[in-house]
Amino acid sequence: MSQTSRALSPFGTTIFATMSRLALEHDAVNLAQGFPDFDGPAFIKQAAKDAIDHQPNQYAPMPGLPALRKAIAARFAADTGVACDPDAQVVVTSGCTEAVAAAMLGLCEPGDEVVLFEPFYDSYRACVAMAGAVPRYVPLRPRYESGPNGQRRIASFDFDPAELAAAFVTLRAGARTRAVLVNTPHNPTGKVFSRAELAQIAALCVRHNALALSDEVYERLLFEPGTHPHIPLATLPGMAERTLTLSSLGKTFSLTGWKVGWAVGPEVLVAAVRAAHQFLTFSVPTPLQHAAAVALTREGEAVPALLATLREGRDALAGALEALGFVVHVPAGTYFICADHTAVSARLGVSGDQAFVLELIKRCRVAAIPPSVFYNDTSLGTSLVRFAFCKRAETIAEGIKRLQALGDRR
Ligand code: GLN
Repeated sequence: MSQTSRALSPFGTTIFATMSRLALEHDAVNLAQGFPDFDGPAFIKQAAKDAIDHQPNQYAPMPGLPALRKAIAARFAADTGVACDPDAQVVVTSGCTEAVAAAMLGLCEPGDEVVLFEPFYDSYRACVAMAGAVPRYVPLRPRYESGPNGQRRIASFDFDPAELAAAFVTLRAGARTRAVLVNTPHNPTGKVFSRAELAQIAALCVRHNALALSDEVYERLLFEPGTHPHIPLATLPGMAERTLTLSSLGKTFSLTGWKVGWAVGPEVLVAAVRAAHQFLTFSVPTPLQHAAAVALTREGEAVPALLATLREGRDALAGALEALGFVVHVPAGTYFICADHTAVSARLGVSGDQAFVLELIKRCRVAAIPPSVFYNDTSLGTSLVRFAFCKRAETIAEGIKRLQALGDRR
């Protein structure tokens, strides 16, 4: 019999662990779990090696190494125009995942309501549960359109402003909407929230005196910065004083295994995150923090090459999927493509995203993610499938070759 607590037992094993295990079992090309199959820049790895050899390898200060906090604060101020005191307004965490957990645990009382967009990154809902808070869901729904050559596309994933407003009205009288958790650019859809959308979120936060937790780990992974720029939520009117901005090293520098993340925001909010962080992990590996400080001050040496690789992967995979009969969303950000698989799965005689990804792994030896696990109302996600394209060109090409076993579009 399971010994797992009531709070956590509904969530089972994360889909990323499950799919990566299946990918190994089937010797599949892993386009499921979002991690690069190439390494981060040599100069950052060298900085970590130097730190191991030449710096103390003992606990870092609980809030983070001063040099790294300084780099994070300077970068945040440059990105947002919002002043940031590295001593009081930054905390370094074990990846953004710990920042989300520590923010929930540090800021929520049992019964507080937290607004989540669905699909959501799977840890959000578990963190809300661990904090004893109550999730309120706002769906992002695919909007279909005809593309330039008449092919169907998913143009965007949109929320209904009325549904968003309703989610801020508490279920119980006397309860409070404590926070909204925003993720832009958004995993799994690849959506980059527009200024107008963020303004609606901001207005509701101000009206209901709610906080915002903004997971911006994909902030640099943008393909159409002219038309779909990343807008930090903290830059919207009234938001700097109520937003915790969460980010990490992993996505920007292809160092997901380092698990270096952070939270930045007003002193009182950061104090609450630190209150939880000190008892969750206490501190983050010291040498990696030294190297992270180097990475953040030399971003220009890393990001353009990564973006070029990702753009090629995105375009190759999107084109191939479309040719196979998927209705594709070409993402403006992140390294994920969400596509409607229903025409393809109908051809194969399977229905639903779970059955489809199992068929895909068996028939093609390609692993993908079934997005229904990212929804409270799972029916909203069953027509979709998520592919990660943060992979070398050879890996994407091999994946595309194997996908041909799905047969021609008819
Ligand atoms: N963020 C990655 C993804 O969405 C997975 C992270 C993890 O495996 N925990 O695929």
